[in-house]
Amino acid sequence: MNRAGRVRQSGEGRSRRADGRGSMASIFHYRVKELAERGMVSHCQALGHAMAHEIGHLLLGTAEHSSRGIMRARWEREDLRDAARRCLVFDPQQAERIRREVDVRRSVALNSQTQR
Ligand SMILES: [Zn+2]
Repeated sequence: MNRAGRVRQSGEGRSRRADGRGSMASIFHYRVKELAERGMVSHCQALGHAMAHEIGHLLLGTAEHSSRGIMRARWEREDLRDAARRCLVFDPQQAERIRREVDVRRSVALNSQTQR
Protein backbone atom coordinates (compact mmCIF):
# COMPACT_ATOMS: atom_id res chain seq x y z
CA MET A 1 0.00 0.00 0.00
CA ASN A 2 1.55 3.22 -1.05
CA ARG A 3 -1.17 5.69 -0.14
CA ALA A 4 -4.02 5.91 2.29
CA GLY A 5 -7.08 4.15 0.98
CA ARG A 6 -5.23 1.81 -1.35
CA VAL A 7 -5.54 -1.90 -1.11
CA ARG A 8 -2.43 -4.03 -1.07
CA GLN A 9 -2.69 -7.71 -1.84
CA SER A 10 -0.11 -10.46 -1.74
CA GLY A 11 0.06 -14.23 -1.38
CA GLU A 12 -1.84 -14.90 1.79
CA GLY A 13 -3.87 -11.77 2.28
CA ARG A 14 -4.40 -8.09 1.77
CA SER A 15 -4.38 -4.97 3.86
CA ARG A 16 -5.82 -1.50 3.56
CA ARG A 17 -5.06 1.79 5.20
CA ALA A 18 -8.00 4.13 4.94
CA ASP A 19 -6.79 7.06 7.01
CA GLY A 20 -3.04 6.90 7.06
CA ARG A 21 -3.26 4.36 9.88
CA GLY A 22 -4.00 0.67 9.58
CA SER A 23 -7.65 -0.06 9.23
CA MET A 24 -8.18 -3.54 7.78
CA ALA A 25 -6.32 -6.70 6.91
CA SER A 26 -7.74 -9.86 5.40
CA ILE A 27 -6.30 -13.33 5.15
CA PHE A 28 -7.10 -15.72 2.30
CA HIS A 29 -7.91 -18.99 4.01
CA TYR A 30 -7.37 -21.07 0.89
CA ARG A 31 -3.80 -19.75 0.65
CA VAL A 32 -3.13 -20.45 4.33
CA LYS A 33 -4.51 -23.94 3.81
CA GLU A 34 -2.21 -24.44 0.80
CA LEU A 35 0.80 -23.42 2.90
CA ALA A 36 -0.17 -25.86 5.63
CA GLU A 37 -0.71 -28.64 3.11
CA ARG A 38 2.94 -28.41 2.08
CA GLY A 39 3.53 -30.12 5.41
CA MET A 40 6.19 -27.87 6.86
CA VAL A 41 3.96 -25.73 9.05
CA SER A 42 0.71 -26.34 10.85
CA HIS A 43 -2.43 -24.52 9.83
CA CYS A 44 -2.16 -22.37 12.96
CA GLN A 45 1.45 -21.48 12.21
CA ALA A 46 0.60 -20.54 8.62
CA LEU A 47 -2.36 -18.46 9.75
CA GLY A 48 -0.39 -16.71 12.48
CA HIS A 49 2.47 -15.81 10.16
CA ALA A 50 0.08 -14.61 7.44
CA MET A 51 -1.64 -12.39 10.01
CA ALA A 52 1.68 -11.01 11.23
CA HIS A 53 2.71 -10.28 7.62
CA GLU A 54 -0.49 -8.32 6.88
CA ILE A 55 -0.40 -6.46 10.19
CA GLY A 56 3.22 -5.70 9.36
CA HIS A 57 2.09 -3.97 6.17
CA LEU A 58 -0.38 -1.87 8.16
CA LEU A 59 2.09 -0.85 10.83
CA LEU A 60 5.00 -0.32 8.44
CA GLY A 61 2.71 1.71 6.17
CA THR A 62 4.10 0.19 3.03
CA ALA A 63 3.44 -2.49 0.43
CA GLU A 64 7.14 -3.23 0.28
CA HIS A 65 8.43 -6.73 0.74
CA SER A 66 11.75 -8.00 1.97
CA SER A 67 14.03 -10.48 0.30
CA ARG A 68 13.99 -12.47 3.54
CA GLY A 69 11.90 -12.96 6.64
CA ILE A 70 8.24 -12.61 7.44
CA MET A 71 7.80 -9.67 5.04
CA ARG A 72 8.94 -11.68 2.02
CA ALA A 73 6.29 -11.56 -0.71
CA ARG A 74 6.17 -15.31 -1.20
CA TRP A 75 7.42 -17.70 1.39
CA GLU A 76 9.66 -20.42 0.09
CA ARG A 77 10.66 -23.70 1.65
CA GLU A 78 13.30 -22.13 3.92
CA ASP A 79 10.80 -19.54 5.14
CA LEU A 80 8.29 -22.23 6.07
CA ARG A 81 11.03 -24.14 7.85
CA ASP A 82 11.85 -20.95 9.79
CA ALA A 83 8.15 -20.46 10.55
CA ALA A 84 7.93 -23.97 11.98
CA ARG A 85 10.95 -23.18 14.20
CA ARG A 86 9.45 -19.80 15.19
CA CYS A 87 12.30 -18.02 13.43
CA LEU A 88 10.38 -16.31 10.58
CA VAL A 89 10.48 -12.78 11.93
CA PHE A 90 10.67 -9.11 11.02
CA ASP A 91 14.15 -7.78 10.38
CA PRO A 92 15.55 -5.46 13.09
CA GLN A 93 14.72 -2.27 11.13
CA GLN A 94 11.15 -3.40 10.50
CA ALA A 95 10.75 -4.39 14.14
CA GLU A 96 11.96 -0.96 15.26
CA ARG A 97 9.61 0.83 12.83
CA ILE A 98 6.70 -1.26 14.09
CA ARG A 99 7.55 -0.48 17.73
CA ARG A 100 7.65 3.25 16.93
CA GLU A 101 4.31 3.08 15.11
CA VAL A 102 2.74 1.23 18.02
CA ASP A 103 4.07 3.91 20.38
CA VAL A 104 2.57 6.66 18.21
CA ARG A 105 -0.78 4.89 18.09
CA ARG A 106 -0.73 4.32 21.85
CA SER A 107 -0.05 8.03 22.43
CA VAL A 108 -2.85 9.05 20.07
CA ALA A 109 -5.25 6.66 21.81
CA LEU A 110 -4.29 7.92 25.28
CA ASN A 111 -4.61 11.55 24.19
CA SER A 112 -8.05 10.96 22.73
CA GLN A 113 -9.17 9.30 25.96
CA THR A 114 -7.97 12.19 28.12
CA GLN A 115 -9.74 14.74 25.89
CA ARG A 116 -13.15 13.10 26.40
ZN1 LIG B 1 2.90 -8.62 1.70
